[in-house]
Order: sequence, then structure tokens, then C-alpha cells
Amino acid sequence: MVNYDYHMGESDLAELESKVTSWLEENLPSGWMQAIDKGDKAKLYELRLSQNYEEWCEKLGKAGWATPTWPVEYSGAGLDQIQAKRVGEVLSRYKVPRSFNIIGIGMAGPTILQWGSHELKARYLPPLAQHKEIWCQLFSEPGSGSDVASLSTSAVRDGDEWVVNGQKVWTTLAHISAFGLLLARTDPNLPKHAGLSYFIVDMNASGVLVRPLKQMTSDKIVNEVFFSEVRIADSHRLGDVGQGWQVATTTLMNERSALSGAGSESGANVGGGPYEAIIASARQNGAWDNSALRDRLMQALIDGRVIKMTNLRAAQNRKSGKPPGPEGSITKLFQAEYNQRLQSLAVDVMGMNASAWSEEDEPASATARGFLRSRANTIEGGTSEIMRNILGERVLGLPREPQVDKDLAWNQIRRSS
Ligand SMILES: Cc1cc2nc3c(=O)[nH]c(=O)nc-3n(C[C@H](O)[C@H](O)[C@H](O)COP(=O)(O)OP(=O)(O)OC[C@H]3O[C@@H](n4cnc5c(N)ncnc54)[C@H](O)[C@@H]3O)c2cc1C
Repeated sequence: MVNYDYHMGESDLAELESKVTSWLEENLPSGWMQAIDKGDKAKLYELRLSQNYEEWCEKLGKAGWATPTWPVEYSGAGLDQIQAKRVGEVLSRYKVPRSFNIIGIGMAGPTILQWGSHELKARYLPPLAQHKEIWCQLFSEPGSGSDVASLSTSAVRDGDEWVVNGQKVWTTLAHISAFGLLLARTDPNLPKHAGLSYFIVDMNASGVLVRPLKQMTSDKIVNEVFFSEVRIADSHRLGDVGQGWQVATTTLMNERSALSGAGSESGANVGGGPYEAIIASARQNGAWDNSALRDRLMQALIDGRVIKMTNLRAAQNRKSGKPPGPEGSITKLFQAEYNQRLQSLAVDVMGMNASAWSEEDEPASATARGFLRSRANTIEGGTSEIMRNILGERVLGLPREPQVDKDLAWNQIRRSS
């Protein structure tokens, strides 16, 4: 067995674990942890209903456990990646509710920490960690997704402000976001990567219009966002003018880690429940007798373990001070395709019941929803084709894809919109 914790003794980690466990004992509703230890699902369900989610997320954030690697002064716990991973394991073990503000915590936070002034950090990080302000990422546009550096939304300087015009699409959570991470073109005469700047935008500012898009799961989580003469103070720019691509790279690297579940028990869940739930379901309905399905279940178990080991390696790299690198693309690619296989497996194990079910059959409904939702995994946060390009070029050192427009001024490049 490889010891990944060689920088920090196991006894220190055990001490941290017991500190978090004691905090949970004091702060979770009484009986919560005992219900988990006893496997009493009914009691846990009852306690969950009695808990105020917003108040809980605020408490978790104030204690520093929602964002353990952030500095204490910004609502973190000042821990390193390995320590944070141990905290995450305790929270997962006790099924502790956490903020759904993934873009805020996983992407906005690390970007502001790396590029923001102290004033921006002090203003934005604590409410973000405490689930008081939701964030969205305003990168993709109708004509610019994989090639996001070709985007058209413009920001034109006017004294101490910037005036923004354009359209974004696929903006997850924009309809309930307080702030967004905006990548905009500030100089159309420069090559596409060089003419971008990066801003924090107030989603309630005058001129911001958000229109939800309905997905095949019936959710309305992604949106179109229109900017008409929206004003942003120059103090809300991250990085220098023209340095937007470098700042965006920080966000994108963290996005891949966030989506791949780096450092977590990723790969253990399907349709909101544990991998074991598919096994239990297969045993119950007889699918277990099908040797081809059993083979796929075993392969899924192996894949899940491989993801976990790769994530541990990535966490170890980051702990040694390296920023999230191309290895985030490995886990993003593998996790996305693995989850799709797992969700298909869950549907196949359920048989006809996954195509038509009675209203009260909650597990069947969750399985079908999980299957439909997983189709986006190989698109969101960069498609699998793009991840393979990144791995080929930056990890394997293969020749780069030809980019004929790389050095051309952006306004000289032909585009459809
Ligand atoms: C559920 C969901 C949530 C999202 N949330 C956000 C969000 O919050 N914020 C945000 O900014 N964006 C978001 N996105 C957008 C996402 O990042 C883009 O959809 C993605 O980058 C692909 O861009 P595109 O849709 O324009 O496809 P395109 O770039 O047009 O790609 C179309 C196809 O061509 C392939 N392709 C393109 N270029 C290459 C190449 N060079 N080599 C090989 N194949 C290539 C792609 O792999 C794909 O199969 C979200 C998307 C989804 C589905």
C-alpha cells in the first residue's frame, strides 16, 4: 500500500479527523451521527428535513470546513490538500450537507485567491464560503465553447469603469447567482488570447438579462445571459488588462479538478446513491444472475478505484506546491466517461423499470434522471475530445493541433457570428 501522507504523520491527520468529528458532534442535529453509524436511514431523513440548509451551510463555512484550504481570514481553515482531503472524507462519511455553490467554491474562490486584491478577497470569499452568495461562470458563448478564447462579448473602458455588451450561454446557476466570472474582449485588434480581460460582474447590475434554458431532465439550471451596456468598476478586474486568458486558465484548471471530484471518493456514487446501491438492486431483481452485467459491475468497481488513486496523486502534487496541472484533464476525462458508463449500468440493471415507473418509485426516478444528466458530463467543463487534445499535447508531448488563427488579430478571424 502506497503511503500518500508522507508529508504529514498519520497521527496528525488522526488528530485533525477527531477535531472535525467533535465539531460535527456539537453542531449537527442531535442523533445525526448515531443514525449514520447505525444505518438508520429513516432517522437521518427525518433529521435532514428538520435542518435549515442555508443556516447549516453558513455554520459549516464559518468554521472553515466548507473551504478548508483557504486562509482562515477568508473563512477557510488554512489546511493543505492532504489535510483538506481528510476533512472531506469525514464530511462524506457523515453525509454532511454542503453548499451546491460548486462554481463559487471550486472555481471563483481559487481564482480570486490567486489573482484578487486583499479588498476583493475580504469582500467576496467569506460570503461565498458561507453559501450566502452564489456564483456563475460566464465564459461560453453561442459561437465560442471549446475555442472559448475566440469569444465576442466586449468590454470597453470608460474612465474607471468598463462597459460590457454581448451574450453568454450555458451559464450554470446564473438565474440565482449574485456574481459571475466574466471573460470579455477588451482589445479586438490583438490575437484572440491576448485581447481578453477578466472581471467580477454583479449579476443584479442594470443591463444583465438572464433567461433559463430547459434541459432534458426538466431542470432549468443553465441559462442564456445577455449584457447590454453593463458597467463594471475597474477595481473588479482580476489580472492586468489583456491578461484575461491567464486568469481564465486558473479557473479552467480548477474547474477540471472540481468536476473530476479530485481528492474525493468520486466514482462511488450513482444517481445520488452509492455504487453499492446498484449491486443491491441487481441482487434484488435478479440482474445479478446475468454474467455480462456482473462483469460490467466489476469493471466499474475497478475504474472507481483507479479514479480514486489518480485523484490522490493529483492531490499530492498540489500539496507539494504545484498548481492544478494537466492531470486535472485526466480525471475530468476519465470521471465523465466513467460516470456515463455507471449511469447506463444502473439503467440496465433496473431493466424496464428505468423506462417507466410509478410516481412513488423514487429510486427509479433518480436512476433515470442520473442517466439523462450524465449525458452532459462529456461536454461541460470541456468536452472529452478537448481533454484528449490537452493530454496528447501537454502530457504525451504530441505535436500541437494546427492553429491558423493563433497570431491573427481577433477582428481579422472569420467566424459565424
Ligand atoms: C450542462 C452544461 C453546463 C455548462 N455550464 C457552463 C458554465 O457554467 N459556464 C460556461 O461558461 N460554460 C458552460 N458550459 C459550456 C461548455 O463549457 C461547452 O458546452 C463546452 O466547452 C463545449 O463547447 P460547445 O458547446 O460550444 O461545443 P463546440 O465547441 O462547438 O464543440 C462541438 C463538438 O466539436 C468537438 N470539437 C470542438 N473543437 C475540437 C477540436 N479542436 N478537436 C476535436 N474536437 C473538437 C467538441 O468536442 C464537440 O464534440 C456548460 C455546458 C453544459 C452542457
